[in-house]
Amino acid sequence: MPYPSVGPDSSGSDTLFDLDALGHPVPAEGGGGPSPRPAATEGDPFRDSAAARRLLPVRTVYAEPAAAASPRGREVLARFPEAEVIEVDSHWRIPGLYGNEGNLERWVRVKGETLVLGERKSLATRPNGRSADWIAPGPSNGCALACAYCYVPRRKGYANPITVFTNIDRIIGHLGRHLARLGPKPEANQCDPSAWVYDIGENGDCSVDALVCDNTADLVRAFRRWPTAKASFATKFVNPDLLALDPRGRTRVRFSLMPPQDSRLLDLRTSPVDERIAAAADFLDAGYEVHFNLSPVVLRPGWEEDWAELLRRLDDVLPERVKRQAAAEVIMLTHNRELHEVNLGWHPRAEELLWQPALQQGKRSENGALNVRYRNQVKADAVRRLRELVAAHSPWLRIRYAF
Ligand code: SF4
Repeated sequence: MPYPSVGPDSSGSDTLFDLDALGHPVPAEGGGGPSPRPAATEGDPFRDSAAARRLLPVRTVYAEPAAAASPRGREVLARFPEAEVIEVDSHWRIPGLYGNEGNLERWVRVKGETLVLGERKSLATRPNGRSADWIAPGPSNGCALACAYCYVPRRKGYANPITVFTNIDRIIGHLGRHLARLGPKPEANQCDPSAWVYDIGENGDCSVDALVCDNTADLVRAFRRWPTAKASFATKFVNPDLLALDPRGRTRVRFSLMPPQDSRLLDLRTSPVDERIAAAADFLDAGYEVHFNLSPVVLRPGWEEDWAELLRRLDDVLPERVKRQAAAEVIMLTHNRELHEVNLGWHPRAEELLWQPALQQGKRSENGALNVRYRNQVKADAVRRLRELVAAHSPWLRIRYAF
């Protein structure tokens, strides 16, 4: 395997960062470059490796009874035979797990030690038009990684472990019918010249889901049978097991990138940025289309120099075959007051970057939460500047959209 193995550190800790004296996670200093961690043994699935087990040392599985009894549910439970299984009526309202009270000091740990099994009730595909043509009903909700800015927990509270939806067959059946109703894509757009693009990972990270079960594999295999469609998902985790799925060009992996010094502070439990870059050629050679998400762009003193350095690095290390097919999305940071307050309790240094009232404006969402984003002129200037940096340092990188 030409890039370093991925996953948690090799310290024996079950987190990717150090713990301070109070047991709070502190991002490890000096990480972010290719790590010397041993690769998974050739032939053994990465998800059976010690590194994968350290990222997901599952101790508790909350399960809807039907989900636990389903083939996918049984598969997940068999992977974690030591875990205590607690029956719940709904994967949405689990007392003591969702919401923030009581979990603030351990909500990152909860992400690795807890899984939820449920059945996806709503099978709706929504139009998008930016990252993808369509947002598919995803195979999961929640994530074992712990990006400080993650928007996924906004609806559940911030202890937000992976919920695996066990009725993957119904999700795939729904997608097949949706695609059949659409027929071929009538004209090219920035999402794709000929395929309908479905984002399959809106509320999680499909590479991490693949450590738990075959939902991601099933979706990749489904899309390779659909010549008018393409799956797409963003990821911050390099899971070598995905290289064996033979996607035949029908799945687009979007490696999310930001300057490593920001990532070390904000992207907890993820693969280092250099590993994501180093994996691009392998994923292309394995049959994926490989794009990049330049996101989130976090404004701070020196951001332009550090993004320029990242873009120069892409230009230096990516082979021509990756560059020829690459494209990028640029997404400026959005944040949320409730998440800000939670983060202050466990990771205040992240908030020094993320919470910048002088640069940001608020917008009340339908559920009353206050979401923030950069002020209109600040954002417009930053997007223009980032486009200039891409043109100067990675001129081969087509920007599909920026917002
Ligand atoms: S990888 Fe994505 S889904 Fe997971 S914590 Fe980070 S931003 Fe959230």
